[in-house]
Amino acid sequence: MSWHDVVVIGAGVAGIQAAMDITSHNIPVCLIKREPTIGGHMGMLDKTFPTNDCSMCILSQKMADVDRHPNSTLLTLAEVEKIEGDAGDFTVTITKYPRYIRESSCIGCGDCSAACPVEVYNSFDAGIGVRKAIYKPHAQVIPNWAMKDNLHCIECGLCYNVCGKNTVLHVDEEAVQIITISAAAVVIAMGYAFFDARKKGQFGYLRYPDVLPGIEFERMINAGGPTFGDIRRLSNGETQKSVVFAQCVGSRDISLGRNFCSCVCCMYALKNSMMIKEHYPEIDITILYSDLRAYGKGYEEYAERANQMGVNIVRALPGEVQQAKNNLVLHVEDIETGEFNNLEADLVILSVGIAPALGTIRLAQSLGLPLDENNFLASADTKLDPAGTIRPGIYIAGTAIAPKDIPDSVISGGASAMKAVIDGFYTSGAQQ
Ligand code: SF4
Ligand code: SF4
Repeated sequence: MSWHDVVVIGAGVAGIQAAMDITSHNIPVCLIKREPTIGGHMGMLDKTFPTNDCSMCILSQKMADVDRHPNSTLLTLAEVEKIEGDAGDFTVTITKYPRYIRESSCIGCGDCSAACPVEVYNSFDAGIGVRKAIYKPHAQVIPNWAMKDNLHCIECGLCYNVCGKNTVLHVDEEAVQIITISAAAVVIAMGYAFFDARKKGQFGYLRYPDVLPGIEFERMINAGGPTFGDIRRLSNGETQKSVVFAQCVGSRDISLGRNFCSCVCCMYALKNSMMIKEHYPEIDITILYSDLRAYGKGYEEYAERANQMGVNIVRALPGEVQQAKNNLVLHVEDIETGEFNNLEADLVILSVGIAPALGTIRLAQSLGLPLDENNFLASADTKLDPAGTIRPGIYIAGTAIAPKDIPDSVISGGASAMKAVIDGFYTSGAQQ
């Protein structure tokens, strides 16, 4: 069993911020991530609102800093099973899944992926890209190691030959491990999942190739993504003439028991509409919204910029999507006039909402932490102690608490770190 003063669960931007702020106080941190790389959803984005900065340009520096810091240890492909004990003396039990790569000798060169003949769906590309059976989810992964997917590997032997470092491991050379870590405090920053657009069947996701959730479009318009930023129609390869964004898909929806606003969808639709206009000014863009929520610093001005670029921002409810001969047709109710119209579109982008991350309920139950009515983790006090929980030594951050944009996730990660530092349950002596 190893000792880390603080365990941070989740390594999206909030978890990374929490880990960096804690380590900067000379307190050792173990940062745990279920995926093969840290970075979370922010690493999937092209640009970030309201500045339209390149998302990875901001994030990759933070990823590298937390990786390099002498007080931080990254544990990827790792899932927390249970946490026992109390503040100052927690035991965290973790399942560590095999990478089938000798981590100590992989240099992340990618030669193995280039040689591999097997292509499969890449979950990092959210449905529109492929990867090899031995792969890095994207070019800037941290830790910079490949990973072998034995479910799809056909054991052709090419990666073993090309690597030549005795680094690629056979299936019987690495097994699932159970690891235990002792820690004085725990920060939970598990992040979020996207609402599954299939639950709103009227929009035709997976029935019509030109209906995409926002995150799939993010990967498509990303110059570093699977199409290198080319947003041609998936149905016929033609360039779109018209794009419609449908807001509040899976948010503020009583019929789904999801009454809450997901906070980011209006802004990411505005951002993506501007990205399209910048690259393809001739494309006609409409955003169908019921209330435009541009609440943050500079957000209202951002919406105005989109408007000035020629994006049609229309107060209307999108109904059913149907396939027409050459494109899609949306049935739309104009909220201002009550009129029903049909709107033609080559591409419909569903602004899907945010849901609690997989495993949130299980972890909360095992820790005796309450959830709110939407199954996000409940704070000790929503206003006065948002980063605290009812259990001393356990803190929460980011979208594990509620939907948040990137600036608020960073603030929340920092707040949980400060509470962990100030409460001072650590005992290894690093801070003293
Ligand atoms: Fe390169 Fe070998 Fe690592 Fe593949 S496994 S990235 S070939 S060092
Ligand atoms: Fe790809 Fe498997 Fe062949 Fe390696 S052995 S190149 S992972 S198919």
